[in-house]
Amino acid sequence: MIRPILRYGEQPLHDPAEPVAEITAEIQRLIDDMIETMYAAPGIGLAAPQVGVALRVFVADISSGRNPRDLLTFINPVFVERTGSQREEEGCLSVPGFNANVTRCSRAVLTGLARDGSEQTIEATGLLARCFEHEMDHLGGRVFVDHLRGLQRDLIVRRIKKLARDGKW
Ligand SMILES: [Zn+2]
Repeated sequence: MIRPILRYGEQPLHDPAEPVAEITAEIQRLIDDMIETMYAAPGIGLAAPQVGVALRVFVADISSGRNPRDLLTFINPVFVERTGSQREEEGCLSVPGFNANVTRCSRAVLTGLARDGSEQTIEATGLLARCFEHEMDHLGGRVFVDHLRGLQRDLIVRRIKKLARDGKW
């Protein structure tokens, strides 16, 4: 089932998410729905808070469904390592219509549980490393706009507020 994606300004998007205590049938259903919602959007990553569930779960697929082996699910993920830096334009399904350059690590090692409860550790570079940091930000209650400063951030926030006032957000 495709779930509605929350937008900037809506909760629990701006709060840190809680760890998953047990991988129940409800969690499996959440993951199925998140995968379906991510592909439908379409996007390369989706975190549970974006569909209104304040739990530390995200899904990612940088191939957008072209390569089944690229589909990843992380439950209670933790960074083991983050090195290097890359600066590229990125966007977010929760901030539609806006993009900005964000500096991210160029290599990341992430560990956590897969959806079957087994431990998984994945080393990522390039786009996947960026995706990991972006989704981990969501689990911490942060969106890419929070990485911007000054005028650039003010401009986006002001435009979102205006859209919200006009009922278009
Ligand atoms: Zn996002």
